[in-house]
Amino acid sequence: MKNNFFTSIIALLVFSTAVAQENRLAQKQPNTAEIYHHIEKLGFLGTALYVAAHPDDENTRLISWLANDKMARTGYLSLTRGDGGQNLIGPQLREQLGMIRTQELLEARYIDGGQQFFTRANDFGYSKHPDETLEIWNEQEVMEDMVRIIREFQPDVIINRFDHRTPGSTHGHHTASAMLSMKVFEYAADKTMYAYQLKELDTWQAPRVYFNTSWWFYGSEEAFDKSDKTNLLEIDAGTYYPYKGLSNSEIAALSRSQHKSQGFGSSGSRGSQTEYLEYLKGSFPTDKSDLFSGINTTWTRVKGGSRIQTLLNAVIASYNFKNPTASIPALLELRNNLENLKDKHWKKIKLEELDQILLDICGVYLEASVNTSTATAGESISVAIELTNRSNETFQISLLPNQILQTEENKIPLNKNDSKSVKASLQIPAIYEASTPYYLKEEGSLGMYQFKDRKLTGQPETAPDFVVRTMMEIQGTQLYREIPIIHKHTDPVRGEVNEPFYIVPEVAVSIQNPVYIFSGDDAQPIQVTIKANKKMPQGNLELLPPDGWHITPQDFGFENLEKGEEKTYTFQVQPPKKASRGVISGLVKIGLQTFNQEVIKINYDHIPDQQLVRNSASQVVKPGLINRANTVAYINGAGDDVAQAIEAIGSKVFKFEPNEVPDDLSKYDAVVVGIRAFNVSENDMDALQPRLDSYVNNGGTLLMQYNTSRRISPDALGPLPITLSRKRVTDENATVTILEPQHKIMTAPNAITSTDFTGWVQERGLYFPEQWDAAFTPILGMNDKEEEMTKGSLLVAEYGAGHIIYTGLSLFRELPAGVSGAYKLLANIISIGVEDQSIENEDGKRKL
Ligand SMILES: [Zn+2]
Repeated sequence: MKNNFFTSIIALLVFSTAVAQENRLAQKQPNTAEIYHHIEKLGFLGTALYVAAHPDDENTRLISWLANDKMARTGYLSLTRGDGGQNLIGPQLREQLGMIRTQELLEARYIDGGQQFFTRANDFGYSKHPDETLEIWNEQEVMEDMVRIIREFQPDVIINRFDHRTPGSTHGHHTASAMLSMKVFEYAADKTMYAYQLKELDTWQAPRVYFNTSWWFYGSEEAFDKSDKTNLLEIDAGTYYPYKGLSNSEIAALSRSQHKSQGFGSSGSRGSQTEYLEYLKGSFPTDKSDLFSGINTTWTRVKGGSRIQTLLNAVIASYNFKNPTASIPALLELRNNLENLKDKHWKKIKLEELDQILLDICGVYLEASVNTSTATAGESISVAIELTNRSNETFQISLLPNQILQTEENKIPLNKNDSKSVKASLQIPAIYEASTPYYLKEEGSLGMYQFKDRKLTGQPETAPDFVVRTMMEIQGTQLYREIPIIHKHTDPVRGEVNEPFYIVPEVAVSIQNPVYIFSGDDAQPIQVTIKANKKMPQGNLELLPPDGWHITPQDFGFENLEKGEEKTYTFQVQPPKKASRGVISGLVKIGLQTFNQEVIKINYDHIPDQQLVRNSASQVVKPGLINRANTVAYINGAGDDVAQAIEAIGSKVFKFEPNEVPDDLSKYDAVVVGIRAFNVSENDMDALQPRLDSYVNNGGTLLMQYNTSRRISPDALGPLPITLSRKRVTDENATVTILEPQHKIMTAPNAITSTDFTGWVQERGLYFPEQWDAAFTPILGMNDKEEEMTKGSLLVAEYGAGHIIYTGLSLFRELPAGVSGAYKLLANIISIGVEDQSIENEDGKRKL
């Protein structure tokens, strides 16, 4: 197979997203049957909140069923944004992947009818146990956010995706989500908890908590069949919705298929589908066929609600599918009654729902667009506003201007099937921050995002920067609506494209790479690109060095840059003599103003374009090491950047697919096998084994990086058996014991000490061997808290005239992050079979 697994997946997804529907910014008018369903939904006053840890944990079938069949207000609270996962559609990782997955969840909810919430918790990577998760998350802050979301959303039922009673059986984030859910069920009702929230909110006691269980939580279908079902509710979530022409499971599949960055495309199914809810706490349901039973979900739960129910029943009974506008007078009377409700919570929710129904019945289309994707502070932009009435009704829409947005006309009468265009001018304030996700403005910690405005708690994304405020007047009633200003254009292939409109800094500055490794004393060229987001008469660019580093030239001047023009400049960066690390940052000066922000764009067809603005900064690292390996063969695995790291410390690297490795490997000082090569290319690695064997036998050095234990037999990894396990050490600061301090891999050419294990990121390593051939020497011992020391993270054996080394250490994470100690260890591994030339010949010494 020529293409590797990931390339083919990417090709497939790129193709499928290119033909897929546009993102949710494209306005969709509901048909008359859907409008009828929305009117019916006005009569249900029940709320469900589904709780789990990650985007993709949620059961879209149950969420869709709650929103569309039960017609409940349905929320999904994902404690994290899924920042720690893998990205199958592009290069974005960490917070940028979190941005993509946030948008994928919003697209999923747009399809299944749910609402989306998050806490400040960060998906920092895998953890085995909730205790470990809760050490890295700030447990108090996560609960503070959950309590606030519950007090605002006021769920009648909380549904956990995971079992709070089985810590250690799944990802620690999963169990933690359920454990915290059980706690905040109590805390939200306790006025001593997070009391400051009660200035704006009331306490809330959710009546009931369930666990959305399934046979797989029982180990097998047989075990599930035999289990006690006293507390179990069965739901048929396979409803067919005639008004949509879709089954609930088909909607759930469309929703789940939005998780494209995870490769979770899903096919719909039809017919009956059972979901199970296990009652956990609160009042027991009075009727096990209804998860809300015993909780009043009708208008009688609100004072004055009976009258509303009567009016609503009349609207439903007389709804005319051929002419929905006939319902307007009755709906407006209903609205008057809603306005008089004392219950603020339901009044707000139902008024919003009803106003949307009125707009939909009138076929109102409101759009405000600009013909540019970005603008800068102080700019004046022309906005095209479209107001359309697709109904038989006549009404008027007023545009409410302010200092920022001035319109040509302010009162626009709209007759039957009338469409009016109005020009407006948007004056962006002279001082205005560039658009970026609100939760990424401040520096967070490993486990938590940080932002000060607690009112933003739970919100998936930053609200649009600019809106057009409108007031529709219909039969004497006024309906307020805000239209977000978007960037709309027509693409020859995609057709109509709707994207957000973002504010960018006047000039953006970006350094080419996030990390630069300096193998020796030589200076390295570093490229810095500036982009003028408005016309720039003149200015200059500097690259600021850390202490002890030198950068030439001191600055570059530039002149007459046009809007949108980019220019790249090359600085020479000179490291100090000794080992050192620091941060370089780009700085543009224009008169008295300075700019140091870079703009990162994330563009995929299935989500609105995203923008991240952050300070321009990159790491420069001089590990101060000696590498004796001149040439290294790299056998590609599942995908990693280790080959670049080897090149960065001075070896010439030749990369091969497992089926393209040359017969004669003798000219290479070391052969390094990429991560999970034995998992993803089982047969090719098998076929390669005799050549690797003889290469090592004749004096070569073979380094194998981590593989997962699944379906890997002890003899699959070469002539010396190794049994892999699921043992990992997830605490990146876990103490490392050097078991063999005198072993040459710890002493030459670089002396490795415990300080080389500081500053590691995310984890120590994974899938460590638990048994190995007696020829191997275990070099390092390490363990997570309260676990036994594992000794399999780095194994070295002499074999024939050469060396076989196996490591589950996460070099693939540490090297791209610029961790000095990982570079020194790597240099020792690939140098192990190379004689120290410096003894005979001082000139041959390759001191870096
Ligand atoms: Zn998960």
